[in-house]
Amino acid sequence: MTASRLYRICVRCIMDTTDPEITFDASGVCRWCRFYDARARREVPREPEARARLSLLVQRMKERGRDKPYDCLIGVSGGVDSTLALWELRKLGVRVLAVHLDNGWNSELAVDNIKKALDRLRVDLYTLVLDWEEFRDLQLAFLKASVPNAEIPTDHAITAFNLMVAREQDIPFVISGANVRTEAFIPDTWAYSALDLRHLKAIHRRFGTVPLRTLPTLGIPTAFADIFLRRIRWISILNLLDYNRSRAVALLEREMGWRSYGSKHYESVYTRFYQGYILVRKFGFTKRRAHLSNLVLAGEVTRAQALAQMESDDYIGSSLCSQDYDFVVKKLGLSRAEFEEIMAQPVRSHYDYPNHRLIYEKMPNLFKLLKKAATRP
Ligand SMILES: [Zn+2]
Repeated sequence: MTASRLYRICVRCIMDTTDPEITFDASGVCRWCRFYDARARREVPREPEARARLSLLVQRMKERGRDKPYDCLIGVSGGVDSTLALWELRKLGVRVLAVHLDNGWNSELAVDNIKKALDRLRVDLYTLVLDWEEFRDLQLAFLKASVPNAEIPTDHAITAFNLMVAREQDIPFVISGANVRTEAFIPDTWAYSALDLRHLKAIHRRFGTVPLRTLPTLGIPTAFADIFLRRIRWISILNLLDYNRSRAVALLEREMGWRSYGSKHYESVYTRFYQGYILVRKFGFTKRRAHLSNLVLAGEVTRAQALAQMESDDYIGSSLCSQDYDFVVKKLGLSRAEFEEIMAQPVRSHYDYPNHRLIYEKMPNLFKLLKKAATRP
């Protein structure tokens, strides 16, 4: 039997067998559709509960922020979700400190979008510029490890940095632009938790050459101390709002002169190239499929529109892609041959390297408790 005869795609969303662990029910609906429904039911309250929870949250933020310069902080990337969350917070009269982790890969457009939003909403910005030699070496280590989630260094550092600022500046609420409606799932085979510090360090030890001295990191004990002792809260505010991505884009364009990147997470040149080229060429999947499936399930686009968007994806082969190729390879300090050698290495699983899986699996209730405490205002 040929591989193409095994190909299957969900009848409701557009997830398919490029996720090797996908399963389908008798009517052809995939497990991700069911997963999406369950998360939406559990984590996205309906009216009037959503409104009540939002006003309780705002009240708590203002109470705990009293006598302090800020009620909350929010990590901004220049993307739709975090910019919209920032807009909503300001509309609610909350005093916000914006924080931004500059990993060296911001597109000019992202920088411009962040600046416009902060000026328009009169919000202070705290930026951390990562040590480039250290961070470059870590990104390269993940590429050499040949694991699908090479964005762990950035995602880990962002989370650690947000909590670090909250701790240092005594800000009790960290607001996140993450939300269930438009990003409820990504297959396990395509991703791995960025929070696993043991895993990050293991890959660095194996493939890195520059010591990790300045990168913000977050270990399990610190995370527990932040949530249970310092009572820092981590809230996905968009789950409490009637969040619709297309409406958000229109609002941001109209109110703040925000400009679109063309695709989710393309505000970073590295992410654009990583998702658009490396994942497709080396790993054989595209995260766009999961992003678009989420939008189908959120009712924002039809399944036919999502399929058409997949068809019209012309990043590979475009002049932007070859421009990104040269830029990324050069910035990482590689020759084309060295980069191609990495591309030719066999794909590895995150589980091929040391990780905290055992702790997560042995003590699931502990982490559920942490999540529950962190997300309750
Ligand atoms: Zn599905």
